[in-house]
This record gives sequence, C-alpha cells and structure tokens, in this order.
Amino acid sequence: MKKLRLSIASVAIGLLALSGCGQGGAPDAPAEGDGAQAEAPEYTVNDSADFKDSKTWKAAKDAGELKVGVKYDQPGLGNVKAGSEQPEGFDIEIAKMVAAQLGFSPDQIKYTETVSANREPFLQQGNIDMVVATYTINDERKKVVDFAGPYYVAGQDLLVAEDSDIAGPDDLDGKKVCSVDGSTPAQNIEEKYDKAELVAYDTYSKCVTDLQSGSVDAVTTDDAILRGYAKQYEGEFKVVGKPFTEEPYGVGLPKGDDAMRDAVNDALQKGMDDGDWKKAFEYTLGSADDVEMPEIDRY
Ligand code: GLU
Repeated sequence: MKKLRLSIASVAIGLLALSGCGQGGAPDAPAEGDGAQAEAPEYTVNDSADFKDSKTWKAAKDAGELKVGVKYDQPGLGNVKAGSEQPEGFDIEIAKMVAAQLGFSPDQIKYTETVSANREPFLQQGNIDMVVATYTINDERKKVVDFAGPYYVAGQDLLVAEDSDIAGPDDLDGKKVCSVDGSTPAQNIEEKYDKAELVAYDTYSKCVTDLQSGSVDAVTTDDAILRGYAKQYEGEFKVVGKPFTEEPYGVGLPKGDDAMRDAVNDALQKGMDDGDWKKAFEYTLGSADDVEMPEIDRY
C-alpha cells in the first residue's frame, strides 16, 4: 500500500476551509445544522462541586482554570471561525456542560487546539486536563488515557465531490483517499482497504482543500465531521451516507484519575437526563429528535 505523508498543505484555501468563510452570522449564532436553535444554552455552574480525590480536578481548581483540548477546524463540532478566537460546536458545548458540573464557568475554560495525533501525548504530558475532540473510545487508546462517555456515536463515512460515483469504501481501490494521522479512520483504511492510496495530514481541513482541488478522490472520517464540511461547501461535496464503523465519542482524561472519570461520567449523565445535552446538540448540529443518546460506559 502506498501512503503519502504531506505535512504542509496549500495554506490559502486551507484557511478558507478552516474559517467557515462566507457563512457570516453573529458569533453566538449556530452556523451548522438544520433547525439549530439560535439561543446559546447556559449550563448552571455547580458552585459546591468538590472532587478533591481527583488530582486533575484539584490542580485545575487551585489554578482557577480547566484546560480542555478541542478541534479548531471541524464545523459544527469544534471550530474557530475567521475573526474569532472562541471555538464553537457540539464538543465545545459538551466541554462547557461538563465544566459547569465540575464547578468551572465558561470563562474558566482554557481551550487548546488538539489534532488527532496529539490527544494522547497532550493528556499524558499533562498539557491539558481533558480532551473533547471527536475522540473515539477504543482499547488501544485506553492503554494510555481514560475515557468518560460516550456522549455521541458517529460512524466512518466518505466525503466526495457532488458528481462522484464513489458509493462506499469498496469503491476506493486505486483511488486517493485523505484522512488524518493518529485517527481511527486512517487506521481503518490502512488495515481494511489497502488498495486505496491513503494521503494523511494532521487536520481534516487540509484534506478538504485537496478534495476541492481534485488532488484526492475522497476524504474519510466520521460522518458528523463530514456533514459539517458538506454544509460549508454546499453543492460541491456530498457525504456518501453509509457509515461503515462505530465511533463512540468520549471525553479523554489522564489515565488513572478514577475520581475525575466518575465526575465527568456523572456530568454527562446529568446533562443527558436534564435536557442540557439536547440543547447543546440542537444549538450546534440541528434537531436531536432522531438522535439516540448513548449509554455511559463506566468500564
Ligand atoms: N473519531 C475518530 C478518531 O478519534 C476520527 C475523528 C478524529 O480524528 O478526531 O480518531
């Protein structure tokens, strides 16, 4: 199998892809998702939160700041628009919802960009306290980090040009398919669809730039991520719409801090029970009517 590793993509179009350029809208208004609510949800901060048994929580509380790793170029999930410094999207809302239960207000969250490949190292090195970044829970990752959740289940899919004949992963033989280093979709292509030529970058927006220029035939990652790009490039790209894996999204945490993991699982469960999860979803991704909330796995 051939694999191209490209570290630098054409910056100009990439920045356009990152920015959500042309979408306009007030900073607080949702840009993605059909029927997304206009009003930003507010999560009640739990002022009596006390998780002193958690080393991570205690250090964050003492510093007055919770450090959260998120994506910056995934519209609808974790995205920083041009001219803004604030990330927004479903993952960002989940981070705020969880932070509130842990006793942190939104302005006490310090966001750091994580790309797919640096999520484990950042948690292991203590650069961040948690990761909320379309992060699939799996056994390999559990060897080095812990997960609370899942809070959503996505599936691997394909983004192709509107007029493409590619209808699923079996049509990728001899085709160039772009994904991201350190991601489960890239690993899946390498392991199961090895007649495809994998082009791997550090972020998906670079793949989208290549799809636009025609230098790759498809982009592969989770359907939730691809839908955001399809919306941004309406009329140009389509999501094939036949997911071929399950990607349960978890909140990544430093390994071995069980008190933190319990606290985050409780926060997610509370949000799912009291309607905050639904508000977060509808504010960022659209109607949650047909979306199933997953069961928390307290492994
Ligand atoms: N959910 C997959 C993963 O964690 C793909 C999305 C991503 O790379 O963030 O690898």
